Amino acid sequence: KLSGTLSKSAEPVKQAAVLGAGIMGGGVAYQSASKGTPILMKDIRPEALDLGLSEASKLFGKQVERGRLTAEKAMQGLNSIVPALSYGEFKSVDLVVEAVVENVNVKKSVLAETEDHIRDDAILASNTSTISITELSKALKRPENFCGMHFFNPVHRMPLVEVIRGEKSSDKAVAQTVAYAQAMGKTPIVVNDCPGFLVNRVLFPYFAGFSLMMKEGADFQQIDKVMERFGWPMGPAYLIDVVGTDTAFHADRVMAEGFPDRMTHEGKNAVDKLYELERFGQKNGKGFYRYE
Ligand code: NAD
Repeated sequence: KLSGTLSKSAEPVKQAAVLGAGIMGGGVAYQSASKGTPILMKDIRPEALDLGLSEASKLFGKQVERGRLTAEKAMQGLNSIVPALSYGEFKSVDLVVEAVVENVNVKKSVLAETEDHIRDDAILASNTSTISITELSKALKRPENFCGMHFFNPVHRMPLVEVIRGEKSSDKAVAQTVAYAQAMGKTPIVVNDCPGFLVNRVLFPYFAGFSLMMKEGADFQQIDKVMERFGWPMGPAYLIDVVGTDTAFHADRVMAEGFPDRMTHEGKNAVDKLYELERFGQKNGKGFYRYE
């Protein structure tokens, strides 16, 4: 309902920003820039900014190779992603997407800090996978300007965006976030707030079922093969490597706390062990599988 009506009256986002230049932040920056909305990309590590920009550059390069963009347009797009280590230019920003690590305390402190550097009417949206938007909003002075904006990985390929309405999110915040998702060529759905929202309430119990089978002695490669034959684009082990075992580990904790009867498991599962071994998945070249 909202995406069809309210978003029409929303102000277009002319300048965006993203916090975090990792898998998701880098993807959001590329998608925004490629659809014509300039974006500041802030991280606390210069090397993360370099990686985020080089990933975006590769994606623009592919568009040129496929004849979908001229080299000039690709260069314009890439130049509209402005890397930042400080909040210097954040007063010009209409909407900020927060995409830092999946940790409630880190997110709260980053969101509160950001709120001090943006205009009173700017919207803050978190790309959290699982953490309650109402809980995160407790760190803010203007919780009405805050909602969830949950993209899926890889951002440039996955059409869905969950826009999450927290207890205090205003219609304006939700509508503007919906409008921005549409401007990025995505399909937004407005969902209510709870740990995991909609998609991850389905996905994480699936991961939990997979982990349980591994504890019972199943082979992850066989499970992956079977799920592919079943018709899914990839099996659970490969998908967890794409997500990152660190993100999956943190998100699993949030889900277990939110749904203790459905999600808790005794002892460590495979994802916990990979995380402890710092096998973070594709992002550092080793997880369930090895990547060159
Ligand atoms: P990532 O580890 O790839 O990137 C996180 C980035 O945040 C790093 O570059 C880090 O340097 C940066 N960072 C940390 N503290 C910061 C700060 N104070 N200011 C600015 N940058 C900071 O993680 P990711 O996979 O991109 O996940 C980011 C968020 O997106 C998480 O909340 C995660 O749950 C969510 N998410 C992830 C996926 C996925 O498949 N990986 C999908 C949907 C949503």
